[in-house]
Amino acid sequence: LALSLLGPQPLPAAAGGLLLLAFSSALAGAQLHQTYIDGLQLQLEFARLARFDQLTGLANRRHFDETLAGEWQRALRLRKEVALVIFDVDEFKRYNDHYGHPGGDACLRRLASAARELVHRHGDLVVRLGGEEFGVLLPLTPAGGASAVADLLRQAIESLRLPHAPGATHPVVTISAGVASMRPESGVHPEDLVKAADAALYQAKGAGRNCVMTAPEVEQASPAARRLREVLG
Ligand code: GH3
Ligand code: MG
Ligand code: MG
Repeated sequence: LALSLLGPQPLPAAAGGLLLLAFSSALAGAQLHQTYIDGLQLQLEFARLARFDQLTGLANRRHFDETLAGEWQRALRLRKEVALVIFDVDEFKRYNDHYGHPGGDACLRRLASAARELVHRHGDLVVRLGGEEFGVLLPLTPAGGASAVADLLRQAIESLRLPHAPGATHPVVTISAGVASMRPESGVHPEDLVKAADAALYQAKGAGRNCVMTAPEVEQASPAARRLREVLG
């Protein structure tokens, strides 16, 4: 088209048409490429949304389940432990009732970033398990180390000094945490680790909150694994 406009002699109509065709298909190709890039970006965004919690930006439960499964296999090969800390905000219903749901959301965001700042070893994962319950997955970590991390986290959150609602047991927002560490073996499953940490968290609530409880080693294995151990001596 451009040549046909420039030349003193007009190009034959067929050649002009060909040029026009080439130009428009290049344009269409570029548009197609852009659509493809946009599609890829959208896919990446969907993948991110599926694995991260929107409120806090932390990993979500699905992300956690996938990571735990992978770490479980790695620990099995290396004959090492996988540890889990589950922590839950103390008397959060009271907090929400006093400050409202948006106030509660802002509090959850503060706690999430405090946890993210504290836990930065490569491979560790901070996750929002749901509601006001969070987890920290600590691969290749024995119970003692995981318990130390949980207590540092408890202290870090208490020292944020976020005022709790009037009538709460503690004047500032606190957490309770349950810790479990397990060495994967036949008959023990990742869900057993979650259950053990959850049971320890329940004990921490019973012990007055703002504290850390660690699942005893014997309870860290599933009944099947314990039976297997008994049989094998
Ligand atoms: P405990 O010390 O035993 O943990 O008591 P609690 O009041 O924290 O426990 P409970 O499970 O009774 O209450 C949890 C509250 O967390 C109730 C629910 O409204 C609130 N919650 C759960 N998810 C969210 C959320 O995404 N945003 C806000 N603002 N609140 C939430
Ligand atoms: Mg709670
Ligand atoms: Mg709860």
